[in-house]
Amino acid sequence: MPERPSARSEIAGLAGYHSPQVEVEVRLNTNESPVPPPAGYTEALVEAVRSIEFNRYPDRAATDLRAALARRYGVDTAQVFCANGSNEALQTILLTYGGAGRSVAMFEPTYAMHSQIARSTGTRVVVGRRGADFGLSAAMVEALVAAERPDVLFLCLPNNPTGTIDSPEVVPAALEALGEYGGLLVVDEAYGQFAPTSSVELIDESRALVVSRTFSKTWAMAGLRLGYLLGPSWCLAELDKVVLPYHLDAIKQAAGVLALEYGQSMEARVADLIAERERLTFALRELPVTVWPSGANFVLFRPEGRSGREVWEGLLDRSILVRDCSSWAGLEDCLRVTIGTEEEGDRFLAALRQVLAQDLSGELVGEET
Ligand SMILES: *Cc1c(COP(=O)(O)O)cnc(C)c1O
Repeated sequence: MPERPSARSEIAGLAGYHSPQVEVEVRLNTNESPVPPPAGYTEALVEAVRSIEFNRYPDRAATDLRAALARRYGVDTAQVFCANGSNEALQTILLTYGGAGRSVAMFEPTYAMHSQIARSTGTRVVVGRRGADFGLSAAMVEALVAAERPDVLFLCLPNNPTGTIDSPEVVPAALEALGEYGGLLVVDEAYGQFAPTSSVELIDESRALVVSRTFSKTWAMAGLRLGYLLGPSWCLAELDKVVLPYHLDAIKQAAGVLALEYGQSMEARVADLIAERERLTFALRELPVTVWPSGANFVLFRPEGRSGREVWEGLLDRSILVRDCSSWAGLEDCLRVTIGTEEEGDRFLAALRQVLAQDLSGELVGEET
């Protein structure tokens, strides 16, 4: 047998990103929107697709899409960068500002893709830890940045999977500490629309701050694979040298422009999901679980005195799929439930009550059936 080629050592050691896509009746594991795009959207998109010249490459600069996003956020078109999902946008940042001999810092527990993308781009990972109840203070950020001087700092706000909203001093403190030597701050706002504050208003040519957002969650378009960065033009211009030419296809560009015309219905959906999140959080507080307040479209909870994995399996047996975080460092026995429709929330709560009423041998305790 000839020798088999081996992957680069950072890659060979990676487990890969896993979120099982199991067939279930209630899917609450990947923070998608529970409802499809607004009425009329798909028909309008089909119409727009008819006028695409498919024999030609698409607009390489995605000018219309970037201009539409710039209008929405009150920034310049040159301050917008689009990619195939915000994960690709983050990867492009590390291909440009990270890489061999460079480092990226993050505070765990956080979104697993941040360290995964760091490793696949050959960027050294500097790990800080969130404090009690997953809190992060300005002092913690300043200390890590001063000690490690990372080239890039990732903050996730609201944080996934904990739902934490950090105090308003954290982002300015991070910017100031990074400014001492020229570090770049990236705030991942995949759930920004669900939170009361955003770092978008801080975007300015004078600040090394980039905010990433996505169409996957609030915009009900995870299937589209479209995300974007807002940041200073001198920073985003470097990314354009790294992405592959014509990386955003013509259908996606048209679909994104069209989606932005449905801003009002998107905002109404966000308000509904926030109300449902508060209802679910309140209901969870009545159960024997620890639940953390969330500023996103999901809630993290830990069954008391029970194995998280076992509760996850009990829910799956009842055709409810939530995210199993129970084996992640700092999240022992924790599960994360996405906010769905009210009906899905009720089914989840009923199933969870049943599972929690069972003792470890699987027998029901109390009168719950
Ligand atoms: C879901 C998620 C993303 C989104 O990724 P897309 O590639 O845009 O689908 C990015 N960051 C965080 C923290 C997320 O949870």
